[in-house]
Amino acid sequence: MIYDFAAERIVHATMSEKSSRTIAVTRSSMAPLDEYVAEITPLWESRWLTNRGEKHRQLEADLQEYLQSPHVSLFTNGHAALECALEALELLAGGEIITTPFTFASTTHAITRKGFKPVFADIKSTDYTLDPEKIEALITPNTVAIMPVHVYGSLCDTDAVEAIAKKHGLKVIYDAAHAFGVKRDGVSAATFGDASMFSFHATKVFNTIEGGGLTFTDDDLATRLDEWKNFGIAADGQTVFAGGNGKMNEFCAAMGICNLRHNDEEIAKRKHAHERYVEHLGNIEGLKLLEIPDNVEHNYAYFPVVFEDASHTTRDEVAAALADEDIFARKYFYPLTSDFACYADTYDAQHDTPIAYDIAERVLTLPLYADLTDDDIDRICNVVLSCVNK
Ligand SMILES: *Cc1c(COP(=O)(O)O)cnc(C)c1O
Repeated sequence: MIYDFAAERIVHATMSEKSSRTIAVTRSSMAPLDEYVAEITPLWESRWLTNRGEKHRQLEADLQEYLQSPHVSLFTNGHAALECALEALELLAGGEIITTPFTFASTTHAITRKGFKPVFADIKSTDYTLDPEKIEALITPNTVAIMPVHVYGSLCDTDAVEAIAKKHGLKVIYDAAHAFGVKRDGVSAATFGDASMFSFHATKVFNTIEGGGLTFTDDDLATRLDEWKNFGIAADGQTVFAGGNGKMNEFCAAMGICNLRHNDEEIAKRKHAHERYVEHLGNIEGLKLLEIPDNVEHNYAYFPVVFEDASHTTRDEVAAALADEDIFARKYFYPLTSDFACYADTYDAQHDTPIAYDIAERVLTLPLYADLTDDDIDRICNVVLSCVNK
């Protein structure tokens, strides 16, 4: 299966042209420029541009509060944070990690790049997160960890996953790239498992341009991560192991400080857009929308629609009809990571994870961002409905 690079390029090209009709799948949130200028101005005085500077320390503190986590460790990007977590948790080398194929490339690549073997469990058809009932049958003496994904901001069944992990002595690392700001019963997504990875990439709900963070509770892990992301150099100046370089710089941290101040407003705007979509598409036969449980404060990161026709053609028709109108939706996540050219020889996605395979064939993620207007949403829904009602 081939990743649609051509469509991706179209999105970027048309974004830069800023045609008034064009709607990209996402648009980065940016705090007002004068706020950012005020935040970075002291850097011309201090000349402290990276390596745990003032902005870095400030953002860590702000995020500890916002995410309700005693530790937040910042990184150059979410992927680096995930790879670093896999190293710093000191898992047995070469072990198996049970994970989901219904995710972005990063989750699976982090596992393989660190020398572990991904073992794919199927997802739930309700919220597309890893199905805890599929995990235990896949556990072997070589299993070292479980890496679920809070996909589209839907929180995994964390209690069930962690009960299995505890029983079998496994670590749990959540890919929480989509779950920034999500809470269940008032409890932050950042509080589960041994560690959670958040991405602060430009396209995510909260961004530091590029960036990422790990949240966790173990004090020792904080020290190890600081060393891992700075070449293995310890606080006393000794180089204690062959670490990498994953430090967030001051300009990205400053962007994060500014964007975080506006994050709740941005999520409220996303919520409004979500609700307008639901008004149009909520009761249409053949369309399944993301369900948001009553006890969840969501972040409205994405608007996935699953088309329920057996022939699997509606999704592609809708995507094409939207593209004709300069509206760029994404087949997110298609193909499954286990179907990528680099993994397809090792895995049989359709056989191993039939539900994930089926959802990937039928899902389309519609444009959703804070500044998406009501008119834009109406236009998008008209195109979707014209295909579905045909
Ligand atoms: C964005 C994303 C990542 C990677 O984050 P980066 O900050 O871009 O490195 C990992 N997992 C998922 C599910 C993502 O969507």
